[in-house]
Amino acid sequence: MIKIQKNILLSEYTSFKIGGLAKYFCVIKNSDEIKEALEFAGENKLKVFILGGGSNLLISDEGFDGLVIRIMNQELRIENNEIFIDSGLSLIKLVNESVKNNLTGLEYLAGIPGTVGGAIVNNAGAFGKCMGDVVESVEILNIKYWILDIKKLNNKQCDFSYRDSIFKKEKKCIILNAVLKLNKGNQEKSKKIITEILKSRKEKQPLEYPSAGSVFKNPVVDDKHLENLMIKCPELKGIVENNTIPAGWLIEQIEGLKGKKIGGAMISEKHCNFIINFNNAKSEDVIILISLIKQKIRSHFGIQLKEEIEYMGF
Ligand SMILES: Cc1cc2nc3c(=O)[nH]c(=O)nc-3n(C[C@H](O)[C@H](O)[C@H](O)COP(=O)(O)OP(=O)(O)OC[C@H]3O[C@@H](n4cnc5c(N)ncnc54)[C@H](O)[C@@H]3O)c2cc1C
Repeated sequence: MIKIQKNILLSEYTSFKIGGLAKYFCVIKNSDEIKEALEFAGENKLKVFILGGGSNLLISDEGFDGLVIRIMNQELRIENNEIFIDSGLSLIKLVNESVKNNLTGLEYLAGIPGTVGGAIVNNAGAFGKCMGDVVESVEILNIKYWILDIKKLNNKQCDFSYRDSIFKKEKKCIILNAVLKLNKGNQEKSKKIITEILKSRKEKQPLEYPSAGSVFKNPVVDDKHLENLMIKCPELKGIVENNTIPAGWLIEQIEGLKGKKIGGAMISEKHCNFIINFNNAKSEDVIILISLIKQKIRSHFGIQLKEEIEYMGF
């Protein structure tokens, strides 16, 4: 039987350490418990929000007037080069387990916080590799119109693209588990890659402060736009890759943005695509910084930045 708690502070459950009260909150450890939680929401006509590790979210200080279901189902099984994994398991644990079992394919996701479910929703990735590269299938609980229906989607049906998937658009489903297909690897080689990745993250990212990682997706511009930008900023030549420009680089080019503070939030000086909570930031502080960045980048470069993070409770 699940325990439904009342008035739980959501800032405790996000990497940003920002967020007001959830009217109702529960932790679920298996599919039966998810169904139980949904029944409670149905009976009480509550809105539902599915929470993983809370590492890609900006939650409003106003909180959430419904039921937050924190997904913590944790099973993991490995058969040959396939991993059968529950959505609540931490991505960091998944990467470690895959390497322990001499499998390769997940090393570049080392150090990304959050759960497997969140990583599938966001098609989390780094260094050109992403979750969608290894997902074979995903089992979901479709909760449209309160009809609980379990379905299995193959990789194509998940519609993965850069930091996106069908699950980011279609909010009426809960990821229960997934099957990942990896390749046989060499444990020592994988460990070496992971050590390098973690070192690079520590050097380049402000990991000492609460944040939600990169706030914006790296924008893709067309050839003509890129040509014009390169006339304005010749140094872009060595930075742009497949017409994609790092959002952090764009932000850094604009005087006054790097290190800009609003209330307790600041555009990181170490990595300008990170907004850090350096002193009890309000969700409003972050929103103001996001709006400022978007407006400046649009007027300076003619580029409309889009958020990688998601909003909840606004
Ligand atoms: C320091 C730091 C570094 C980061 N680096 C990276 C990086 O390199 N690459 C990258 O891609 N991301 C990065 N992130 C962002 C984040 O860690 C990832 O996007 C992560 O995969 C989010 O997972 P989560 O479990 O925390 O999701 P949450 O933030 O809890 O949720 C994100 C979305 O997924 C939904 N969701 C979560 N679980 C489920 C489920 N089981 N079923 C249905 N919906 C679900 C939520 O409703 C929400 O819409 C970073 C974040 C931080 C703080």
